[in-house]
Amino acid sequence: QAKKAGRNQCKLYSANEKEGSIAPLKMELALHKAIEQDQLLLYYQPKINLHTGEIVGVEALIRWEHPELGLVSPGTFIPIAEESGLIIPIGEWVLNAACQQNKTWQQQGFSTVMSVNISAIQFNQFNLINTITTALEKVGLEPQYLEIEITESMTADIERTIFMLQQLKKLGVRISIDDFGTGFSSLSYLKNFPVDTLKIDQSFVSELRNNPNDETIVKTIISMAHNLSLNVVAEGIETKEQLVFLQQHLCDEGQGFFLSKALTANELEEKRFDIQQIVGEHGIPRDVNE
Ligand code: C2E
Ligand code: MG
Ligand code: MG
Ligand code: MG
Repeated sequence: QAKKAGRNQCKLYSANEKEGSIAPLKMELALHKAIEQDQLLLYYQPKINLHTGEIVGVEALIRWEHPELGLVSPGTFIPIAEESGLIIPIGEWVLNAACQQNKTWQQQGFSTVMSVNISAIQFNQFNLINTITTALEKVGLEPQYLEIEITESMTADIERTIFMLQQLKKLGVRISIDDFGTGFSSLSYLKNFPVDTLKIDQSFVSELRNNPNDETIVKTIISMAHNLSLNVVAEGIETKEQLVFLQQHLCDEGQGFFLSKALTANELEEKRFDIQQIVGEHGIPRDVNE
């Protein structure tokens, strides 16, 4: 009987192996090629000033144009890139491409801040500072036009985090805490971290006008950010009602499908002025609530 059970287990194991580990390995090999064969690209999601409607920033969001699979989202391949270490060359590619695009836009008269998402693995490498410095210098982009997005979950080691953030500050780039409110870290770090911006996680924004607890959380994050002299951005705005709520509660900036999804560089150049109209069409003027 034991033998039978053992055999069954073995079968089960190899069946799992097929589904669970071979596919990621294939993907890892394909990701290697992706870098060599230029299959990675950046999309850009505008960040809008919720009072004026102006595009004040743009977030670089990576995509992988796989020859057979089509456009692969970062949720699928970033974890594999992180496990395999490929996130280091990929992250470097993102920084270079994002700085280059922002410099190009600047030269065309479109001055904006480019936000780049950084993985925990990149953030744990002292070399990150060099990589960023090189990316800026290569194209001659001034550091204040680059923003680094980190998440709360990367900040567990407080001493290290403070050191890294101070290095980034010295360099002159902006720092934003992404997905704010989803981590479990103590709020006391906020007073010691030299960050510029909090991005309210989209899980709270999606429930605005729906769940009073989420409304309270959003209002609280906005006033806390302002009391700490931080800029506050809402991500994942999908409806007019959510936009108006955020405007009424004086959230500074917003991103979301209601304003614009992530676009290719060309699409963004074409639609830039239309996107700037959206807040004017739907929003309420700032002084209504003041
Ligand atoms: P994130 O930085 O929090 O980015 C926001 C994600 O929400 C993006 O998905 C964006 O397309 C999506 N989004 C924007 N507006 C809305 C909305 O109104 N509704 C909904 N439901 N979603 C919205 P995306 O591009 O698939 O990226 C997912 C995550 O992958 C990002 O979350 C970020 O953590 C990571 N990521 C993206 N690009 C990079 C990168 O270059 N490097 C690293 N390390 N991570 C990246
Ligand atoms: Mg982000
Ligand atoms: Mg986010
Ligand atoms: Mg998110």
